[in-house]
Amino acid sequence: MVSPKTVVGGGGLLLVAMAVLLANPVTAGRPAWKWLVEPSDVTLAFEEEPTTSENLYPSRRQPVDETYRLPTSTAPVHYHLALRTAIHENNRQFSGTVTIHLQVLEATTTIVVLNRRLTIQRAALHEEATGGTVGPELEQPTFATDTRTEHLTFTLSRVLQPGSHYFLRIEFQGTLQNNNNMGFFASSYLDQNGVRRYLASSKFEPTHARSAFPCYDEPLLKATFELEITHSMSYNAVANMPMVGTPVPDPDNVNYVTSKFQVSPKMSTYLLAFAVSDFAIRTAGQQTVYARSNVFDETAFPLEAGNRILDALSTYMDVSYYDYMPKMTQIAIPDRGTGAMENWGLVAYGEPVLLFNPAINSYRNKKSVTTIIAHEYAHQWFGNLVSPNWWEFIWLNEGFATVYEYYAAQLAYPEGEFWELFTVEVIQNAFAADASETVRPMNWNAGSPDEIAALFDTVAYDKSGSVLNMFREVLGDENWRAGLKTYMGARQLDGAVADDLYAGLQAALVASGVGLLPAGVTVRQLMDSWTSAAGFPLLNVYRTYGGETETDRGVILSQERFLSNRQLPNNHVFHIPYDFTGGNAPNFTPSPAQFRWLSSKAAKISTSVPDNQWLIFNRQQTGYYRVNYDAHNWELIVAALHDNPMQIHRRNRAQLVNDVYNLARADRVDFALALRLMAYLRKETEYAPWTAAGSALTYFHNKLRGTPNFEHFRLYVNRLLADIYPTLALTERPEETMLQRYLKQFLTTWACRVGYGDCLEQMRQALVAAQQANTPVHPDVATAVYCNGLAADAGNDAFVWVYEQFKNSNNQAYRTVLIDALACSRNPTQLSSFITVALGTGSEFDGMLATERTRIVSAVYGASREGVDAVIDFLSVPSQVTEFVQRLGQSALNSAVSNIASRTNNQQELDRLNALLTSLGSNVSETVANSVRATVQNNFNWFTTLEGVVVTDFFEKFATTPQEL
Ligand SMILES: [Zn+2]
Repeated sequence: MVSPKTVVGGGGLLLVAMAVLLANPVTAGRPAWKWLVEPSDVTLAFEEEPTTSENLYPSRRQPVDETYRLPTSTAPVHYHLALRTAIHENNRQFSGTVTIHLQVLEATTTIVVLNRRLTIQRAALHEEATGGTVGPELEQPTFATDTRTEHLTFTLSRVLQPGSHYFLRIEFQGTLQNNNNMGFFASSYLDQNGVRRYLASSKFEPTHARSAFPCYDEPLLKATFELEITHSMSYNAVANMPMVGTPVPDPDNVNYVTSKFQVSPKMSTYLLAFAVSDFAIRTAGQQTVYARSNVFDETAFPLEAGNRILDALSTYMDVSYYDYMPKMTQIAIPDRGTGAMENWGLVAYGEPVLLFNPAINSYRNKKSVTTIIAHEYAHQWFGNLVSPNWWEFIWLNEGFATVYEYYAAQLAYPEGEFWELFTVEVIQNAFAADASETVRPMNWNAGSPDEIAALFDTVAYDKSGSVLNMFREVLGDENWRAGLKTYMGARQLDGAVADDLYAGLQAALVASGVGLLPAGVTVRQLMDSWTSAAGFPLLNVYRTYGGETETDRGVILSQERFLSNRQLPNNHVFHIPYDFTGGNAPNFTPSPAQFRWLSSKAAKISTSVPDNQWLIFNRQQTGYYRVNYDAHNWELIVAALHDNPMQIHRRNRAQLVNDVYNLARADRVDFALALRLMAYLRKETEYAPWTAAGSALTYFHNKLRGTPNFEHFRLYVNRLLADIYPTLALTERPEETMLQRYLKQFLTTWACRVGYGDCLEQMRQALVAAQQANTPVHPDVATAVYCNGLAADAGNDAFVWVYEQFKNSNNQAYRTVLIDALACSRNPTQLSSFITVALGTGSEFDGMLATERTRIVSAVYGASREGVDAVIDFLSVPSQVTEFVQRLGQSALNSAVSNIASRTNNQQELDRLNALLTSLGSNVSETVANSVRATVQNNFNWFTTLEGVVVTDFFEKFATTPQEL
């Protein structure tokens, strides 16, 4: 599944760090505790052994509360599930009957399944008749649900014997959940006449099947499913499997029909899916797309992409999807956010990540639609055909889906450059979350439903994708595919653990006869060093200069865990595959045969690269680790980048920018080195290095805006943009590639943000021209033109014109683009009226989603200081605060106040914040108010940290003497 990604351990750590900072103000000299252990002159003290920390690497089978797990005495073979819904009239009650064909594995007098909030009305145990059909009723067991474990226990008057089969028939009732994308839930939309329509659909991963029907809701307890749904005859039903014939009239009600579906393959409960709606259907081959009829035009692209991607994956895996499933359906659920779920044969999406309208949607929408389809389709193998035995190994699903999200999109659209984004969107994103001390390893057990849900994090997606891709590169794609085929062949229609994957890859390597692994080391040992340990390594590269011959020219490699804010000794050894190239003969093409392994804490190697030429490790950043160098090698790299950046591969340029900035943040290199290195960007014309620099530029911008030092930073960014910005065309150029479009938007954003040249004026003119001609600009430049045009005060007419487009569009992705653009206005009256829109009621506002209302507020304070002021002004009127909380919730208010605080950089802004806090009074809790004050104090203190002093000094020198670079 794809969910809005959660960053592990973010906010909490920061708060702790700040609390420590406040409790122990940093003063000159050494910390007081150091004096206490100062040895006397007469003692010959031995250096203390550094404390090693084992608990950085918790055991993979950490204890969890196992009482949530089902007993192993019975297991399901087949489910017959009949559901009845009246969703067409917005009736939230549903009823159902499930008949579970089960087998007895151990003698027992109870049958335990899972149930969340369903009312069980009647249950009966039947014997199995000849031919495996339902036989006579044996008894009506008593039953009870434990609301903590969600165990629904049926107690029998007899002992069920191992090897015997029974049918358990359960009648139940439930309530559709409300628009929350969990279980069996209701959604709605406005049709072309403005009439609200309702639909019901399902999303069960990880533990929500039990809220739609009582079941053995654990991934390994697979069974076949036979589904029938009774619904209004004006609606249609769709499920994993094709319908059997046409819907049959319901004997109880002439307005209802029953849609029956074919028996599914053996699969996990979390993959069952169905939907009941009045949606329109577009078909091509064995695939269909379901969506509300007023967006039917937008289903053409996802249908075409779906066919291309599924075919490409079938070929690549050498295991055809259609060998297991007869059809594939994609369905766009309104107001389902931007997530998606890979249900076998019925993939469900939020509208903005499935629908695509070329007239209004941008290259970015097209990219996300394509890659998210690829992600969900990759799950048809990784997750659906082979599921993890338990959620502990969810990376066997999400890690693979993350790799093929990009890789399969590229296979289907070779011209699309999707794979180019893997480095910056996946690997570098994983680093950010995985550098926290409290992050979990990939293998990580969970017991309760909340613990299970928390496993769908950056580790499961981006870190696991990065680690899997590293091994794909190291073993070579051929061996990798052969290994995956072995793995899938062995575990198909069943569950798997990490060892099953390692065994498949090992078998493929043995069969191919190539010696890619270190002697005597198995795939299991190599991969387990990454999957069982938290975090990722930093590879330190220290060259010993001055040698005459190659054997004298040594390089000392060492590894340690990389943490974003401190250094902690530990014993863990990652098996690190490394390769490198040198300035004397650059070759940045990774090759399986050329990887070597660092399988110890440190090792010395030799190199033919002369002392005066740079060395760069981890070609194209295929390995999931950062690299630090000795000072001289860094200087050689900086010189090479400034001289001719194109001699270094673009992905390594992105790596160098991302590494040096994060090494500086972690106090491992001088920040001045990072800023000198990044200054090479003035010669950079590729997207990856620029976007890698984006997080650094954003960081400095946020620290310095509103302070006297901002002007120095502004000059630095101006200098970076000076050569490339004039080469950009504002208008859409059909010949531009996707990455060129990404780059153009990035550079325009920064140019306008720092007031470079005539950026703002050009955008203002483009917006005014579009408004006067009443013709929207090309979707690929809409963000730049509308946002910056409004920021440059294009006038009320232009603001209203963009707002009308927002109001009249029913394309959720486009509406989001327009919300963000409208929020770019710096005009207090426009901003105030826009915030009022977020709280509006009545027919004009009925079509607005709750997420859109919240986004209006966050987009306004996120866009500019004027936006922050507009939110402060709005919240300073007590009656509006009440309305704000009623409409958007207390969390939106807390979030707004916290965000205002993090954007408070000077005394005047602090005075405004304090006045707001006074005015808000008890509308925000003391905890929020305290955390807000700590945030501001932290912003102010930054200027007296080592980082703050070095950075501001660098920018100041740069501003006065630019040649200092
Ligand atoms: Zn997924």
